[in-house]
Amino acid sequence: MTATNKARLGATLVLGLGKTGESVARYLASLMPGRVSSVTLYAGASSGPDERARALEEAGVTVVLGTERVEGSYDLAVASPGIPETSAFFRSAAACATEVIGEPELAFRESPERWVAITGTNGKTTTTSLATHLLRAGGLAAEAVGNIGTLITDRVAERPADGWFVAELSSFQLACTRTLHPRAAVLLNVTPDHLEWHGTMEAYAAAKERVFANMDGSDLAVVSVDDDFCRAAAGRLSARGLVPCELSVEREPSGPRAAFLREGLLVVRLDGVERELLPASDLKIFGRHNAQNALAAAAVALFLGVAEKDVCAALRSFAPIEHRIEPAGEVAGVRYVNDSKATNTDSVEKALTAFDAGSIVVLLGGHDKMTDLTSLSRAVCGRCRVAVCYGEAGERIARSLEGERDREGAALEVLRAAHLREAFDAARACARPGETVLLSPACSSFDEFANMGERGRLFKELVRSLSEGEA
Ligand code: ADP
Repeated sequence: MTATNKARLGATLVLGLGKTGESVARYLASLMPGRVSSVTLYAGASSGPDERARALEEAGVTVVLGTERVEGSYDLAVASPGIPETSAFFRSAAACATEVIGEPELAFRESPERWVAITGTNGKTTTTSLATHLLRAGGLAAEAVGNIGTLITDRVAERPADGWFVAELSSFQLACTRTLHPRAAVLLNVTPDHLEWHGTMEAYAAAKERVFANMDGSDLAVVSVDDDFCRAAAGRLSARGLVPCELSVEREPSGPRAAFLREGLLVVRLDGVERELLPASDLKIFGRHNAQNALAAAAVALFLGVAEKDVCAALRSFAPIEHRIEPAGEVAGVRYVNDSKATNTDSVEKALTAFDAGSIVVLLGGHDKMTDLTSLSRAVCGRCRVAVCYGEAGERIARSLEGERDREGAALEVLRAAHLREAFDAARACARPGETVLLSPACSSFDEFANMGERGRLFKELVRSLSEGEA
């Protein structure tokens, strides 16, 4: 569609004045008066007049501050991902608007060709970056967008005519999609997280599954068969007549479309044709979960026509992304690894599989999301020699680990520390040559840091000063 024959959006409403709300409002304002008759932005209950609000007003947006009770009548509302569907703010908007969508849905409607969508509880960013890297290796113009840090709406205008969007989509964003129809989509895993937003595990899983809602037999739906929620989603795809590409690092699926490990080799089978790509040990990203990410990205790239040799070369050259099992240096024979991005228990369990059992000193703690610790405690007792627990959640984690250790007669040493800095010192003091000190905290960082990036950077700084001291 050209700009001139695109649909009229009419009176529009934007919820929230964060990065998303601001960008969406600007985008919609740029379509006035032709396709958009008005843009009204509700900034939320705690908002007050500021520079951003004034600048939007100047661009023609009506900004409403200090309330979440929406008034008026709108053709289309776009909600920021921080506003849960279950909130009074969202419901109030829904009562005044013909429909409420999220920012990726708006971007899709504006530019619906050549989308790859990636979702899951863990591994989204890695898989999105990797898929982008593989598509580029095949000569395609591909750009990673969405939850990875680039608002999709911001990229719509400059998108090249043959460009691919590889969109990382969170459950919040997917919950508010309607017509989104990617050419290829990946669902990596669904494990408990973000229940405070979605209300129930079922609602969370259903939001993720929406990524496939409009896909048909000519598309590629890559879906894990290693967890119950994803397996059920794969079953529903089959029931709709699609042939899901079954993704597994635990077994060899039998269907005509599959991506799996066979004796350590990454194998992708598409419509009966099997390609043995390379050994997982050739990847620079460690752990079975990263083999899963690599398999998913490879399946997408092969499906979109990237040559096998280009896929293999690009899989070999892909380096870990910052804060995701990122090597942070080696001091006195001890390896330090920054996995600050592991903000839930499942991601830690996966990270622990990337290192030899019995040789890990793990740092756990941070803001307590009150998630169940049973499975994490089992994994830590099984694989770590020492756990240093710190921060707001430290005591609860330490007790859970001690309980599991004492029940199972495991040898885990549990240490306590006030903050990350002290936890690092304790880990350094007890780590032996050949071991790995792993920051994989299972918690968000907000009790001590602005975000997980700041936490990871402090960890790396501590390693750096240690190695400088050593030198
Ligand atoms: P997301 O964007 O979904 O948060 P990332 O790629 O940033 O995912 O990885 C976050 C953390 O999740 C990593 O530090 C790693 O410990 C873990 N992880 C990565 N890929 C997977 C996967 N496929 N399954 C489970 N855990 C994973």
